[in-house]
Amino acid sequence: MRTIISILITLIATPVLSQNTFVYKTANAEVILLAEINSIRKADNLIGFTPEIAAETAPDNTYPGGTNAFLIKINGENILVDTGLGRELFKNLETFGVKPEDVTKILITHLHADHFLGLQRDGNRAFPYAKVYLSLKESENTPENAKKILDLYSGDIITFHPDECPKEVISGVNSLAAYGHTPGHTVYIVDDLMIWGDLTHAMAIQMPYPRVAISYDTDPQMAIKSRLRILEYVIKNKLTVAGMHIPYPSIGIVTKEGGESYKFTPAK
Ligand SMILES: [Zn+2]
Repeated sequence: MRTIISILITLIATPVLSQNTFVYKTANAEVILLAEINSIRKADNLIGFTPEIAAETAPDNTYPGGTNAFLIKINGENILVDTGLGRELFKNLETFGVKPEDVTKILITHLHADHFLGLQRDGNRAFPYAKVYLSLKESENTPENAKKILDLYSGDIITFHPDECPKEVISGVNSLAAYGHTPGHTVYIVDDLMIWGDLTHAMAIQMPYPRVAISYDTDPQMAIKSRLRILEYVIKNKLTVAGMHIPYPSIGIVTKEGGESYKFTPAK
């Protein structure tokens, strides 16, 4: 009996694999969700979150969120987009047979801890052969807590200057500037999929109301402008989107509902 109970407890406590990973195939690549956290978050840090918007989108003052990184398998290479906090990253990679030494490139959207902490493991460089790519603007504004970790990759950091039009950053992957959440926040496009980093934090609220910002935005007004511009870009170019804080499966389609209102439909 005790064994059965302990098996049951283990089953309940172990996150179901299908909730951690999701595979999306593009014309030339496989993009794999590496989820770390799926949780309900309090809508306390939002800016422009009026009582009317709250009543409609989050009457209990919460919204579903997540913390994700993505793996792109392209041209025989394993490329990470962000690394998350590094809690589930290595286990998730292992699920797909990828060892840290197999990762050749890491594209960083921005330097917040939930995106770069997985660059290290127990204080050491986690990916021995990977080059780290980030926008020049983000690199020039490196926060204190990221400096030591980026130092582990000294000589292997490549900065680039993303634009408002797609620019190839590595073979098969384009970058697009989406500044505002941080000074150099950058999104990446592979074939028909955009990995949009922290373009949104609260999908349930910011899709219908993209002018709602969050206190973590370095420049909330600029973040709103970028969000509106990128959303229009996605619609115009019929891209699927993936996001670091979109709840599972974290990949899906955005449609325009009229005016500045959008709707997200998760991929199946
Ligand atoms: Zn984030």
